[in-house]
Amino acid sequence: MGKSFFAVVFLALAIKSTAFATPLGPQPFIAGQWVKSWLLCGPIPLKFWNDPVKAWGHIQGFTDDYLLSLGGEANLKVKDGALVKLKKQTLKWASYSTPDSIVDLRKILSRESPLCAYAYTEVIADEDKVWTVAMGTNDGCRLWVNNLLVWDYKVKRPVLPDEDLIPVVLKKGTNKILLKVEQHGNAWGYCFRFLPFKPSQLTAKGDLFTVTSNEKGETRLASSLSDLVLSQLINNLKLTVVNDREKTVLEEKRITDYLKSFQLDAGAFKPFTAKIEYELSSGEKFSQQTHFTVGKRVEYSLFSNGKTNYRISVNPQASESEQWAAKELQHWLKEISKVDFEIQNFDPTYRGAQIVIGYNATMAKQANLAFPEEADETYRYCNIGENIYISGGKQRGTMYGVLSFLENELGCRWYTPSFSSIPTRDALNFTWYSHSEGPGIRVRNDFYYEAFDPTWAAHNKVNGAMGYRVQPGGVESYWNVHTFFQLMPPAELFAKHPEYYSYIEGKRVADQAQLCLSNSAVLAMMIDRIKKRMRESPEYLIYDVSQNDWHNPCQCDNCLHIANQYGGESGILIWFVNQVADAVKQEFPTKYIGTLSYQYTRKPPVNIKPKDNVVVRFCSIECCFSHDFKSCKENKTFLADLEGWSSLAPHLYIWDYVVNFNHYQMPYPNFSVLQPNIQTFRDNHTIGIMEQAAYQSRGGEFAELRSYLISKLLWNPDCNADAVINDFMSGYYGRSGKIIRKYFDQLQGLVTKDVHIHCLSTEEKHFTDAFIHSCLEIFAQAELVADNPEILRHVEMASVPILYLKCKQTPALAKADGTYAKFCKITEREKITHYSESGEPHRLSFHRAIEEQKP
Ligand SMILES: [Zn+2]
Ligand SMILES: [Zn+2]
Repeated sequence: MGKSFFAVVFLALAIKSTAFATPLGPQPFIAGQWVKSWLLCGPIPLKFWNDPVKAWGHIQGFTDDYLLSLGGEANLKVKDGALVKLKKQTLKWASYSTPDSIVDLRKILSRESPLCAYAYTEVIADEDKVWTVAMGTNDGCRLWVNNLLVWDYKVKRPVLPDEDLIPVVLKKGTNKILLKVEQHGNAWGYCFRFLPFKPSQLTAKGDLFTVTSNEKGETRLASSLSDLVLSQLINNLKLTVVNDREKTVLEEKRITDYLKSFQLDAGAFKPFTAKIEYELSSGEKFSQQTHFTVGKRVEYSLFSNGKTNYRISVNPQASESEQWAAKELQHWLKEISKVDFEIQNFDPTYRGAQIVIGYNATMAKQANLAFPEEADETYRYCNIGENIYISGGKQRGTMYGVLSFLENELGCRWYTPSFSSIPTRDALNFTWYSHSEGPGIRVRNDFYYEAFDPTWAAHNKVNGAMGYRVQPGGVESYWNVHTFFQLMPPAELFAKHPEYYSYIEGKRVADQAQLCLSNSAVLAMMIDRIKKRMRESPEYLIYDVSQNDWHNPCQCDNCLHIANQYGGESGILIWFVNQVADAVKQEFPTKYIGTLSYQYTRKPPVNIKPKDNVVVRFCSIECCFSHDFKSCKENKTFLADLEGWSSLAPHLYIWDYVVNFNHYQMPYPNFSVLQPNIQTFRDNHTIGIMEQAAYQSRGGEFAELRSYLISKLLWNPDCNADAVINDFMSGYYGRSGKIIRKYFDQLQGLVTKDVHIHCLSTEEKHFTDAFIHSCLEIFAQAELVADNPEILRHVEMASVPILYLKCKQTPALAKADGTYAKFCKITEREKITHYSESGEPHRLSFHRAIEEQKP
């Protein structure tokens, strides 16, 4: 503790001369030592409230100022023996010195309740400085320092030394301290001392500042500390207020008047966030964030007990997907509420409550939104008064807004094409909606069999496809791959123009070869033919101009010369594709020319960059997938090539692999890499990601969960993946979900530093008999608690990988103990046709291996 800075001025005299007869002279007080000499005045009778709500505050009468005859609580002039006249009695201030730390008011003044009393003392400080009052009171209290109310505590409590740590400013010379303590019953008293001020105590019990706002938008910082104390404590403060769209609406530096009020727009009830950064006079810096709301809080009822006042309004010029979305909203709202919401054309004169689908001038003006680009997938939903507005780009933005509204605000989940979770409810009240989101990855291609269902894909914002399919909102599709010969077939051209094809070992060849990319006639023809393709099939986003699926690039002098100039075969390919891209740019400003970085073009080029409208499709087939790209030494060269291309190519398109293609049904512990790898692609400026998975039939290991999770990760690579998994576990597997999560964790837990897995793997040694046994037990439990036959089927599907593994590893046992029969029952029932990418031959040999086992 510090040195002495205080001296109590009073000569304390005994209140009741019989009990405390020893007079005390002026004595120095040391920081950390209890202040023991006081003038006391009490007891003042109070009354308990009858209203239980008011009982949370001070006792009735506590806040009355009983000292008006002496100048009042905030301007007290008092001496020992001064009188205070109450209605029925007169009290006399009397000095008192406590023998220990606690001033026991019950012993000194009264054993009755409810009551309150005053305690007054004066201390001398030798400089202007911030000190900490360390105090405990039983029960509530108020504290004035130099006539300023600095503390107000309302609740019943025992005396705990140093419970309140209150920074106060003591000025040089005499300082007045007035304490008022109330008595609910039982013990009554306080203890009081000064401690050196420590900045850490400012934030030890929460934030220093709160923000309050009224319905008119008048807003102020509030603090348990007074402005005077703050002005001594703080050098400067920066206040930044952002609205719900993360737009800064106020930025202010303050060096005084820290609690001054400011005005915010209170047009509608909405939330704000205040960031408060402040520097103490000691130089220490603190910062805090506080959420608060502004405006009048009104509750609106979207529906209640089978009725609604709302209708769904759609712009007459709405796109197809916006109209589809309106019907979706109507359909799912009916499932949820049993209420019919009628759909009408938007009518600017309509005054009733409505959910407005699509861009709308009223909402745009209020939310300060520009008219969105048609292809802009960013959506926003919000309410202005009772009306709810949902909008985004016409192609898919509005549709995603409607679906996200259903997902976020009403709890709808579309887990698989055949299983959704739609919570029903009798009523829905809301105060405020405001949410906006855009895609993390522009083209999201979830290449799972489960994800090809167009409605499921639309629900879960999967917008990418290999090839083309009809889907609400359309798809961003990739036309083809390995297209050199598809566009310039040797059968058509080689006889007349052998010089169009690869020059290999002294002659032009077409068989298993490529094009002579340095030949200007090849370039001209390629431009011509890809333009024709683009005109005939305008539905694609990316048109492929890429090498055939073999080696043999042209080795003629001109080609070699260009390749050498640009760092190898990827260099001449990009040189060629760039010219194609330049040639189509004017006619197709929103389209891309795609090419491959694959096999002999895998290494990034030098001295050349792919043009803005060129997409480089880059694949991860050789990577380790139990560890993410950044953490496994096996993935080092892949990551280097990815980063190399990323620094060159404005648009990368990833072909990534998320299952075991040799055994779709084998447990595959890669869940921990899905998110970081997608984030790595995103950070490397990926225009699209295709996550190739079990695409030929249902039944891939955790296919339902993984296809769902991937759709969420591609939309928002930073989403809370674990929360998505848990939501799926409980939504799709019901009561069994928690148990299946155990299996899931056990499986992912097999990955150690040394367990590497690959997408063309036959590696099984990390699956021990003990592991299989333990998993089978988990599934037995999960099946036991399944909510209903449908959920039981989900649980059985999830168990297929363990059944498959047991059949493979111990076929005789699996045949004998019924494991194989169960596997067959489930795979037949669920129509699982592919156990691997190679399909039927693998499936047949799997079954043969078990059926051949002798009983
Ligand atoms: Zn050539
Ligand atoms: Zn690895």
